[in-house]
Amino acid sequence: MSVSAARIDAVLDAVPKGLFIGGEWLETSGGVKVENPATGEVLAEVADATPEQGIQALDAAVAVAESWAATDPRERGEILRKAFELLHQRADDFALLMTLEMGKPLAEARGEVTYGAEFFRWFSEESVRIAGRYSMAPSGGTRLLTMKQPVGPVYAITPWNFPLAMGTRKIGPAIAAGCPVVIKPAAQTPLTTLALAAVLVEAGVPDGVINVITTSSSGKVSEPIIRDPRLRKLTFTGSTEVGRRLIGQSAEQVLRVSMELGGNAPFLVFADADLDRAVDGAMLAKMRNIGEACTAANRFLVHSSVADEFGRRFAEKMSALTVGPGIDDGVQVGPLVDRAAVQKVSELVGDAVDAGGSVLTGGEKLGDRGYFYAPTVLADVPTSAKMFREEIFGPVAPITTFDTDDDGIALANDTEFGLVAYAFTRDLTRAIRVAERLQTGMVGINQGIVSNPAAPFGGVKASGVGREGGAEGIEEYLETKYVGIAL
Ligand code: NAP
Repeated sequence: MSVSAARIDAVLDAVPKGLFIGGEWLETSGGVKVENPATGEVLAEVADATPEQGIQALDAAVAVAESWAATDPRERGEILRKAFELLHQRADDFALLMTLEMGKPLAEARGEVTYGAEFFRWFSEESVRIAGRYSMAPSGGTRLLTMKQPVGPVYAITPWNFPLAMGTRKIGPAIAAGCPVVIKPAAQTPLTTLALAAVLVEAGVPDGVINVITTSSSGKVSEPIIRDPRLRKLTFTGSTEVGRRLIGQSAEQVLRVSMELGGNAPFLVFADADLDRAVDGAMLAKMRNIGEACTAANRFLVHSSVADEFGRRFAEKMSALTVGPGIDDGVQVGPLVDRAAVQKVSELVGDAVDAGGSVLTGGEKLGDRGYFYAPTVLADVPTSAKMFREEIFGPVAPITTFDTDDDGIALANDTEFGLVAYAFTRDLTRAIRVAERLQTGMVGINQGIVSNPAAPFGGVKASGVGREGGAEGIEEYLETKYVGIAL
């Protein structure tokens, strides 16, 4: 069973394809082709913004910045709450849209709708809890007042791998804080963001508070916006390479930046781990989103006494997964996002095998139509293999062994990245010691997923700056102002 062509057409037809600027959909003659990675066919065409249209979107955001900042927090919270409810009402449509443009199986896409919508609910609740401080100066006399104010117009750039959640994670706190937003989704997956803008309008977002630009020239369109002195904040999720460039551009106006960049997550299995739990955790940490997640476990570091058994059980589960188009019933692993992704994964696997790794399962591209790669487990991968340093971004799990806790932690930290790490052990003391020593922004203990809208998501080292979600999330969109009051 699959989804009918009529249903697919209806969902695609309902998505606005123009630029959304100042509350108006600007119809253009199209330009950016959106491809279905399961078939390689074109799904739709969306507007291709020029640099001038990018600045027009910023103009619209700047025009409403003051009035939007002055709205009642409750009003902003209610809009987000309404948008949360609308997303749930339209969950099936959003899930299908993401499966079509990005490839993830429908069940996973539905999971992303729940996860993505939750940022709106969470920040609807945070909008009314923005607070400052009042204190007396240590020497008496002067009173110290701190207040939190919206940072101002925000430019948000999002990647293709979580087309909905990476947007709501930025739009939610920006709206809650009182900031207008220009958002630019990845050219590969613009449809979800366009549909999201329509939902926000229905939820009551005033004209100019949300603006969406889609473009095939992300660099040319983004740079003038980032260098414009009226912009006050850049929030980016994507690769470390692009993030570095954008930080450079942001230096000119000394912009506030939030950067959610690449990862190279270690997945540590200690000798005392519950292996059933570790294998279940490994499946989740590796295979969520077909391995195309910044949080994906990239290096499985397993104590030598349990490595064979862990590898055997893990490979058994990986080989039992059903691979196919995300819209088909029962499919657990969809296609990779494009041909280049399959090429990159194939090269990394070839390199690891040449370096001495052995294939326990998978290790090959599947079929000629679409961009499918077999769920793969590799054993005895030496640390000299390229995949030990580079993000795989696909369904490939390399296993490397260690003998002492110190060695395992040293291997885990031996990367320029520091987003998330996973550790499996039954020993609470070990778990806490390891969590303290891992150089990452997040740690999962005995669990293969850490993402949670109520928790601060983000990395250290080359994985980024800033946090999204949790109580910290809204702070990224607020400035602290101190007022000294002489009595
Ligand atoms: P990417 O190439 O860096 O693209 C991300 C976004 O930046 C897209 O919207 C892209 O638009 C845009 N972009 C590319 N070049 C640009 C430029 N010169 N100026 C302005 N914008 C530019 O990353 P990706 O391959 O799509 O996404 C995968 C990466 O994102 C991985 O490294 C992953 O780890 C990371 N990621 C991190 C997190 C996190 O929270 N830490 C979450 C998800 C993903 P176009 O594609 O249209 O050019």
